[in-house]
Amino acid sequence: MIEKIGVIGSGQMGGGIAQVCAQAGYDVVLFDVVPAQLAKARANIEKSLRKLAEKAGIDAGAVEAAMARIKTSTIPEDLAPSDLVIEAISENEALKLDIFRQYDALLKPEAILASNTSSIPITRLASSTKRPDRVIGMHFMNPVPVMKLVELIRGHETSEETFSAVSAVVTKLGKEIAVSQDYPGFIVNRVLVPMLNEAAFAVYEGLASPEDVDKAMKLGTNQPMGPLALADFIGLDTVLAIMDVLYHGFKDPKYRPCPLLVKMVQAGHLGKKSGKGFFTYQ
Ligand code: NAD
Repeated sequence: MIEKIGVIGSGQMGGGIAQVCAQAGYDVVLFDVVPAQLAKARANIEKSLRKLAEKAGIDAGAVEAAMARIKTSTIPEDLAPSDLVIEAISENEALKLDIFRQYDALLKPEAILASNTSSIPITRLASSTKRPDRVIGMHFMNPVPVMKLVELIRGHETSEETFSAVSAVVTKLGKEIAVSQDYPGFIVNRVLVPMLNEAAFAVYEGLASPEDVDKAMKLGTNQPMGPLALADFIGLDTVLAIMDVLYHGFKDPKYRPCPLLVKMVQAGHLGKKSGKGFFTYQ
C-alpha cells in the first residue's frame, strides 16, 4: 500500500508531480540539491493550487491541506520512509544512474523506484539497483497538474505487483494510463519529438519561417500549439537529448537531430526557460 511518496528533483516536472500527489492525499517529500529551487517549487505549487481552486471552486482549506502534505528537503535520508520514490532530475543518464544506486541503498526493500525520464531506458536504470523488479517508468506530461496522461513503462524485469501498485497511484491522481514497453522514446516522444525535429529542419532548410511552420501546423492540423512553440516550451536541450536517445537507441539515421537545433542549444538558446528559442520570451 503506497502512502508516502518521495520526489527527487524539484524542477518543472518534480514540482508538478509533488503537487498532484499531495492533492490526491499522499504525504510527499520533495527533494532537491538546490535549496533555492525547492523554494521556487513551493511557491509555484501554491500559485498553481490557488489558480486551480479559483477555477474549480475548491475551498482555500483544501489548498492549505495539500501544501501541508508537502515537505521539502535537501537531506536524502528524509526520503527513507517513502513507499514510492519518483525521480525527476535533469535528463542525464550518468546522474540518474547515480541517483538509482544511491536510493536503492537508502530505501526500504519493498519501496518502488520510478523514473519520470523522457527517454532513458528503464531497464538500464533498474540494472543499477538490486531491485529491478521494483523499478518502473512513470512518465508524466508537462504541465503535470493539467495533462491527463501518464505513460507507464515496464522495464525488462518490472513485476506485476509493481505495475499494479503504481497503476493504482496513477488512477488515484485522476490520470489516465498508456502502457509502453521499454524502447527509446516510449510512445509519446517516439511519435512527437521527430515531428518537432522535422519542424526545425523546415526552418533550417529555409522551407518556411518559424511563424509560418507553427501557423501551418496549428491551423492546418488542428494542433493547439505549433511544434516550434512546443519545442521551446519543452526546452530545446531536452528535445535534443531525446533525439540523441532515439538516434543512438535505434541506430537509424531517420532520427538524426537537426543541425540548427544542435547549434541553438550550443548557443544557450534553450527556448522559454532561457528567454530565446525559435521565438523570444519576456
Ligand atoms: P528541470 O531542469 O526543470 O529540473 C531538474 C531538477 O533536478 C532541478 O531542480 C535540479 O536542481 C534537480 N537536480 C539535478 N541533479 C539532481 C540530483 N543529483 N539530486 C536532486 N536533484 C537534482 O527539468 P524537468 O523539465 O523538470 O525534467 C525532469 C525530468 O522529467 C527529466 O528526466 C525530463 O526528461 C523529464 N520530463 C520532462 C518534461 C518536460 O516537458 N520538461 C516532460 C516529461 C518528462
